[in-house]
Order: sequence, then structure tokens, then C-alpha cells
Amino acid sequence: SDLAETILGRIRDVPDYPKPGVVFKDITPLLGDHGAFAAVVDALADGLEVDKVVGIEARGFILAAPVAYTAGAGFVPIRKKGKLPAAAHAASYDLEYGSAVIEVHRDAFAPGDRVLIVDDVLATGGTARAAVELVGRAGAEVVAVSVLMELAFLKGRERLSGVDVRALVVV
Ligand code: IMP
Repeated sequence: SDLAETILGRIRDVPDYPKPGVVFKDITPLLGDHGAFAAVVDALADGLEVDKVVGIEARGFILAAPVAYTAGAGFVPIRKKGKLPAAAHAASYDLEYGSAVIEVHRDAFAPGDRVLIVDDVLATGGTARAAVELVGRAGAEVVAVSVLMELAFLKGRERLSGVDVRALVVV
């Protein structure tokens, strides 16, 4: 599609970042292009009726905030441990070496809120899985997880069974 071409032409592969052997998908060329950024935000917001859009720190914030605005929904941040000021739920997930913890405010949602989770890249799915868990523990319902780009070879979708996972492009 035109949108897929627009996205693929503006995501840069950076070899050996953040460490040797990893090819990092850098979305900054896309963000710097107004037309492409607007098309992506509109596509991520399209067709979903939600009360809140959750962004995952840090690149997820950049996409989720304008998606929330466009969708007529509130914005909720999921942050790395220790960054949120008020009482929070925490969930941990495995990294290649060790683990990480993300958090959401306990009062971020009204009971039964319909929630869209947005991030830039779905890789192993660990981050998204933990975000889904946090939204559930905070009393809301995950309608979908939407990402700009899914890295299919890392099989993240398999860790998100039962979740509607949407990707604007799959590579
Ligand atoms: P996962 O938990 O392995 O699915 O990794 C997804 C998280 O790591 C997301 O929050 C992404 O922002 C980030 N991430 C992983 N790989 C990349 C990449 O190649 N480019 C940008 N972000 C990435």
C-alpha cells in the first residue's frame, strides 16, 4: 500500500545499535516528515472507539499522544520503573540479559475503560505483554495493541495470544 511504502521508505536500519549484531529500526526520519507522521497517526487512530490511548515510554509517547488527540481519547503513559509520581502498578518482563519493570498509575483508568496500546516497534512482544497486563490490573479493557512496525521474525505476536495486534507494516 501507499502507507506501507511511505513508512518503509522513512525507517532507517542502524546496524550494531544498541549493541553488535542488532539492526535497530530508527523512526526519526518518519517523525521528521509531516505528511508521513500525520498519515501514520491517522492510520493508528482509524476505526477504533476507545476511552484512553496508552503510550509506552519513550518512542510510544511520540505516537500515542497524537493518536489519543485524533481519536478523541485521553492519553495514559506507561513508564519505566520509578518515573511515575503517584501510586502505580508494576509489571516486569524479560530482556535478553536480565529484566525490566514498567508501571502505570493505579488511577489512570475509569473501570471498564476501552484502551488502545500504542508503541513504535513490536519485537519479542515482552514489553507489549507487560503493558497489557498493567492495563488489566488497573481495571480497564485492552481493545488492541497497535504498532508502527512488527518484526515478525521475533514472533512477538505469539506472546500476545488473545490480543488484537495490529501493525501498519510487518517486516
Ligand atoms: P520487545 O519487548 O522485544 O517487543 O521490544 C519492543 C520495545 O523495544 C518497544 O518499546 C520498542 O520501542 C523497542 N524496540 C525494540 N526493537 C526496536 C527497534 O529496532 N527500533 C525501535 N525500537 C525498538
